[in-house]
Amino acid sequence: MRTPIIAGNWKMHKTVAEAVELARGVRDAVADIAGVDVVLCPPFTALAAVGDVVANSNVGVGAQNMYYETQGAFTGEVSPLMLKELCQFVILGHSERRQFFGETDEGVNKKIKVALAHGLTPIVCVGENLEQNEAGETNVFVGGQVKAAFDNVPAADAVKVIIAYEPIWAIGTGRNADPATANSIIKESIRGVLAKMYGTEPAEQIRIQYGGSVKPSNVVDYMTQPDIDGALVGGASLTVENFLPLVKAAA
Ligand code: PEP
Repeated sequence: MRTPIIAGNWKMHKTVAEAVELARGVRDAVADIAGVDVVLCPPFTALAAVGDVVANSNVGVGAQNMYYETQGAFTGEVSPLMLKELCQFVILGHSERRQFFGETDEGVNKKIKVALAHGLTPIVCVGENLEQNEAGETNVFVGGQVKAAFDNVPAADAVKVIIAYEPIWAIGTGRNADPATANSIIKESIRGVLAKMYGTEPAEQIRIQYGGSVKPSNVVDYMTQPDIDGALVGGASLTVENFLPLVKAAA
């Protein structure tokens, strides 16, 4: 039985003061909700403050990116040693990082290994763009991203990783993927590839979220799919009003 996980990716939104206010609102709203893991991923600048707000609550904290070296002359980067003082999760390979900041499958693989070595739980994003989707290349492309991400990651570590299937054309566009189609891509091209790499049992343990324009009006359609174990949420994570129904639906 996989516990669903709802993670809010705040992207480049919220000052520290705004982040504290939103985190307080989420913490209080979800305090009595069981059966779901809730994670807030603010910008680096607000990680410490949000961590203080949700300390001793049922809300976890994640970063939105991380470098794969632990320290050194890497101006502007943030290391796993720094993050592990502040959070438990880290989003890796988000499509915006791949698209705008040149992240590669190889780099994402390195980051996954380093995050795991430092006790951080990676939320690894995969997903095809519109052109690949329309050309019928989704399964092969997403399967390839999964294989590359988990290259040389042993089964004992792989089961700790969370995957987010996020079709790029559905992120921030309001154009969400058909829930049954998303489920079948997750089942065949993500869990199926993991089963080939690690065997059925580890593959069945790994939690796989859907991400892409999830909102209160469509969340139930995703949470009722058997292979979808929660959601990675951008836009709808920025207010308590929109985020709370997602947590309730997953629970
Ligand atoms: C995301 O940023 O991972 C995402 C899924 O965004 P949105 O929910 O806004 O589509």
